[in-house]
Amino acid sequence: MTALLQATPPVAAPFHPPPAVMPVAQRPPQVFVRGQGSWLWDAQDRRYFDAVQGWAVNTLGHAPPAVAEALAHQAGTLLQAGPGFYNAPAIALCERLCALSGLAHAFITTSGAEANEGAVKLARKWGQQQRGGAATVITMANSFHGRTLAMMAASGKPGFDRIFAPAVPGFVHMPFNDLAAVRQAIGTDTVAVMLELVQGEAGVVEAQPGFVQGLRALCDAHGLLLIVDEVQTGIGRCGTLFAHTQWDVQPDIVTLGKGLGAGVPAGAVLARAGVCRFVPGDQGGTYNGNALVCAAALAVLDAVSAPGFMQNVHNRGEQLAAGLARLSARHGLGGVHGRGLLRALALPPQLASGVVADAARTLPGDCGLLVNPAQPQRLRLMPALNITAAEVDTLLALLDRALAIATAPPA
Ligand SMILES: *Cc1c(COP(=O)(O)O)cnc(C)c1O
Repeated sequence: MTALLQATPPVAAPFHPPPAVMPVAQRPPQVFVRGQGSWLWDAQDRRYFDAVQGWAVNTLGHAPPAVAEALAHQAGTLLQAGPGFYNAPAIALCERLCALSGLAHAFITTSGAEANEGAVKLARKWGQQQRGGAATVITMANSFHGRTLAMMAASGKPGFDRIFAPAVPGFVHMPFNDLAAVRQAIGTDTVAVMLELVQGEAGVVEAQPGFVQGLRALCDAHGLLLIVDEVQTGIGRCGTLFAHTQWDVQPDIVTLGKGLGAGVPAGAVLARAGVCRFVPGDQGGTYNGNALVCAAALAVLDAVSAPGFMQNVHNRGEQLAAGLARLSARHGLGGVHGRGLLRALALPPQLASGVVADAARTLPGDCGLLVNPAQPQRLRLMPALNITAAEVDTLLALLDRALAIATAPPA
């Protein structure tokens, strides 16, 4: 669910969800029609500061000219050659991702879940050849890896494995940041360990450095693969192109999604030399390596590789964290979590629901604010990575007003 700290006046007419749209998410009534940078406009032309940004997707904000130009050019040149042929943007994107990550091979996907599926396929194939058919992947409690049947089983989100039972076998969940538990869970059928370095959907919960380095050592000792799901943390979200460099760990497999396409559906599986045992026929999909998607992702990588870009993410992240800490002190709230521009403010659960549901519905001024309660007690902020210092101030000022309303004693 997305918290909508919405502009006055609240939508007056009773809202009827369009029945043609399957009810897969609890959505506010606004219908968004256009965006620019950090701002979104609804069909009534009200504007909203967007700190959700397509769910940590819009690396360059809304309607980024660099991506729009790359798309327009590629659309007039070649959209889809098909998975049975090479195309120039796909080769360029694979080569660029390998050069940037130091990994050897890339497979381009159209979502994060699909990238993670590819990672598990790589691990199982490798287990067949290297570990006598071992196939089980150890994942973390409260992790999120996507919504395909296998990734719902892989995810440690409580209850996720039962919604569409029977769950895909081959995954065991261990407590996050508990190295001893992972060590104990390793058996002859174990082939890999998969984790997020910052659990985004869990409410922005960081992996401890010793845990991650301990996992690397365990994987080395037992001959397991370390898979790092960077779908949310990658492409600069945490202040470096890949978050794993901040944990000083070299994964065997890295997955990407979200920010790679900056609003265009792009993801990737990257593997170190020796890990990829795919042969023709093992993996693929009609749109994998689609030229349009790859051209957009290349434009995103150009932008985030430009001098000063990551420094801005880091600086704005620090500015946002400091501002959130001030708001927390002023309104008597909890801690600030996360890195770069993936941040969360801890709130008492009853207050978070207030911020989400009612209190902030009367946010004064000429605009609303979009934030995300990743958990009932965690407000998550994931603004555009090219956000300016003035825009961070605007975001903090709007959030301050919303929190003031939410924390006001009942009249
Ligand atoms: C969003 C997310 C996914 C799933 O990506 P989709 O593109 O929605 O399939 C997987 N892992 C992590 C860490 C994510 O944040």
